[in-house]
Amino acid sequence: MSSVTVRVPAKVNVQLSVGPLRDDGYHDLVNVFLAVSVFDEVIAKESETVSVKVEGEWTDQVPVDDGNLAIQAARALARHAGRTYGVELVIRKAIPVAGGMAGGSADAAGALVACNELWGLGLPREDLMEIAADLGSDVPFSLLGGTAVGTGRGEQLAELPTDGRFHWVFAIADGGLSTAKVYAECDRLRETRGEQVPWPQASEALLTALKKGDARALGAELVNDLQPAALSLRGSLARTLGTGQARGALGAIVSGSGPTCAFLVADEEQARQLAVALVEEGVCRTAVPAYGPVAGASIV
Ligand code: ATP
Repeated sequence: MSSVTVRVPAKVNVQLSVGPLRDDGYHDLVNVFLAVSVFDEVIAKESETVSVKVEGEWTDQVPVDDGNLAIQAARALARHAGRTYGVELVIRKAIPVAGGMAGGSADAAGALVACNELWGLGLPREDLMEIAADLGSDVPFSLLGGTAVGTGRGEQLAELPTDGRFHWVFAIADGGLSTAKVYAECDRLRETRGEQVPWPQASEALLTALKKGDARALGAELVNDLQPAALSLRGSLARTLGTGQARGALGAIVSGSGPTCAFLVADEEQARQLAVALVEEGVCRTAVPAYGPVAGASIV
């Protein structure tokens, strides 16, 4: 086999509840993930050495050395197999970089699946999930896809069967936001306000809405504890969210650490119309209609 192509989805957090800052610098999270139909492609080609090329928009912000998460994933897989392997990775990026949609994690998951196949390792998903958890807290979900509840740092995952399909519009901003800076701003705001931060818990109403495929109920229950911090760092997002709400979105939320804004809508037609309106109003760089849940990293 000389080349393997894997398609891997972005995610939106329909609930992201952030617990108090722990002594080790992390936070306990409740993270309800939904995989959505914005896909990166990771192509693994036979090669003597390990390298990566990135194609598409925003490519200048993606490292092409060992800082690239897809390269780290390929190296981790080779270590796990106890051998030295080479691969030329090509990433076709559609997921915004530093956009709060887990694009880097998606590429890492894509590289794991593609190299497992290219190198003929035949490792089962459970092994890939273990390697994924060491690479980053969102990587296991990028492998799994669908809908899942993450706890701990987000890496302990329980699948959540859901009914139906949810339609979204993702308003992609100019430039990214650093996840680390958004968490730091969240801690700073909480400290300034003297907030007592509760232990994060999954919202029963939200899980029920997801299970039933009830978009209206889900829209009312969307939670993102990082949203105040993302808005504090990027004030313009308030107008983006407000525009989507005024145009009839069932729910409007910053996606993960932002700056992408996610709008839940009733159907495909409303998604198409809202995407056009958001761009026309000049509140984002591009707007992408999508749906979820979709499968995790898959060979095409
Ligand atoms: P999350 O939602 O998981 O917090 P994000 O979607 O906000 O993450 P990413 O797109 O994963 O952010 O990128 C975060 C940083 O990771 C980028 O600024 C980039 O320097 C680095 N990075 C490393 N590898 C990749 C990759 N393959 N694709 C994108 N960014 C990568």
